[in-house]
Amino acid sequence: MKNEMTVIFDALSENEAFARNTVAAFCVTLDPTVDQINDIKTAVSEAVTNCIVHAYPENAENKKITVTTTIGDNTVHIVVSDTGIGIDNIDDAVQPFYTTKPDQERSGMGFTVMESFMDSLKVERNTPSGTVVTMIKTIRGADWKEKKH
Ligand code: ATP
Ligand code: MG
Repeated sequence: MKNEMTVIFDALSENEAFARNTVAAFCVTLDPTVDQINDIKTAVSEAVTNCIVHAYPENAENKKITVTTTIGDNTVHIVVSDTGIGIDNIDDAVQPFYTTKPDQERSGMGFTVMESFMDSLKVERNTPSGTVVTMIKTIRGADWKEKKH
């Protein structure tokens, strides 16, 4: 059985906590461990922060971030997308320590963090512009075996 929700919000730093907590709250029915929830929050935070920091020029008019979360039996799929400037070279961008904003105390570790905290990470171009980040994690709560098997 699948269960899906989508939130669309402005690319403003004050919305980062909203995004990570909303996704985490939605995943609670999967019975995740505290560690798993924290991993998801961290990954969502990195993906959403990237949209806020990198996707849109400061004076852009329609700065939206869309986050779709789908939960299945034991899996969560999270898709974070923007319609901003996009990433020129995705292969370079996902490398550890690669950043185009070293002057703003960016360490270039966002994608590396997403990759290590989730089971899979995919970064693609959005159509007609922007970036789509898809992350998947398998969730099994600490009492999953006991309750369901
Ligand atoms: P950190 O996440 O450690 O603060 P960072 O954001 O620069 O630093 P990553 O999150 O790994 O590092 O992203 C690498 C690079 O990919 C960014 O510097 C930026 O050039 C590009 N990038 C990432 N997300 C987006 C996006 N949504 N739109 C446009 N460019 C992006
Ligand atoms: Mg980042």
